[in-house]
Amino acid sequence: MALGKDYVTQECSIARALEVVGERWTLLVVRDALYGVRRYNDFLVHLGIPRAVLAARLQTLTSEGILEKRRYQESPPRDEYVLTESGIGLWPTLRSLGLWGREHVSGVKLREFRHALCDTELGPYGECRVCGTIVPVPDVVMVPGPGLDPDPADPVSKALLRPKRLLEPLVTEPV
Ligand SMILES: [Zn+2]
Repeated sequence: MALGKDYVTQECSIARALEVVGERWTLLVVRDALYGVRRYNDFLVHLGIPRAVLAARLQTLTSEGILEKRRYQESPPRDEYVLTESGIGLWPTLRSLGLWGREHVSGVKLREFRHALCDTELGPYGECRVCGTIVPVPDVVMVPGPGLDPDPADPVSKALLRPKRLLEPLVTEPV
């Protein structure tokens, strides 16, 4: 029997949230969207997942109001997926999860997040250690860390080797 994704016996907001974002790959799609990935093929090559799984995750994230579909080309019709306010609201969760992963699981610093205005690494609560603000997502700059593969195979990973602001649409080089 396939496992359902609902936690019917749980009276808990964490359980409700996990019903939306707790499926395998879902939070990684949101992570990529925060990094500026918007196009189906870019998600596909970066995540390396079956097309059907990606399509299902994008469908769920869109119907739950976490991603919004926007037409960027008419012929042939092509849509891109952009985070909504609700989706951007997952940033603190993903940032904390990454920090926890680094401290308790991997021990490797793959990316660093900095306040664009002060050029300082964010503290554990997403705060700037210089000006003290909880840095708004568009003002967070992602900087590759020393643990990243310097010569990745896919164009999205390559493009993500350059420092960039979160949410800023990712531009990949033609292969
Ligand atoms: Zn600052």
